[in-house]
Amino acid sequence: MSTSFIQISDCHIDDEKLVMGVDSRSSLEKVLSRIKTQVFDALIISGDLTHNGTPNSYQLLKDSLSCIDNNIYAMPGNHDNKHNLSTAFNTELQNSFQLDEWQIITLDSVQNNKVSGFLNEAQLCFLSESINNSDAKYIIVCLHHPIVSMNSDWDDSLSLENPNDLFNVIKKYSKVKAVLWGHAHQSECFKYKGVSLFSCPSTALQFNGPEGVGYNQYTLHSNGKIDCKTHWL
Ligand SMILES: [Zn+2]
Repeated sequence: MSTSFIQISDCHIDDEKLVMGVDSRSSLEKVLSRIKTQVFDALIISGDLTHNGTPNSYQLLKDSLSCIDNNIYAMPGNHDNKHNLSTAFNTELQNSFQLDEWQIITLDSVQNNKVSGFLNEAQLCFLSESINNSDAKYIIVCLHHPIVSMNSDWDDSLSLENPNDLFNVIKKYSKVKAVLWGHAHQSECFKYKGVSLFSCPSTALQFNGPEGVGYNQYTLHSNGKIDCKTHWL
């Protein structure tokens, strides 16, 4: 038996049509029309939903997402406005939800006026408590910022500043199977002490890797195995 969810990231929707030289909204809509044809149980968006955080850009994003019937879980990135995001999606900035035997926990790693990320005490407590309160057999953690070197042209100093604080929580719980992120606009997978680490490509443009836009689909098996497939368009 298995369940599955989809991760999209770094949509960078804006009031302006062109963002970083690309039409981010039309590429997102291409991605969503592919996703719509697939069977999955939830959609998560791992930050940089918008480019400048305006209320209108969240509304444009929501209009595009209206074709998706599944539950959507959004977390902030450094380009987002936290207030406008949580208002538009009527959500907390961190969340925890269960799919079969799996608990998915999303965190807010965004600092004020900084590109790099940081998990403060409140977020680390939310993570520990969400794990302790869950009767799921397996845990997945998701945040905007990478927690290991991306081994690419990406400037790792723009990633999470305190990955060891996260690893110190994770290592207490062998049921944490994977950590997912966006921010680097690069599809990649890594392994850290038995935990799978997945970086999701952008739906707008990549900083490293193939041209085109993409998203990640995860299949979660009841034996604790997780498969990730990056779909490219
Ligand atoms: Zn981005």
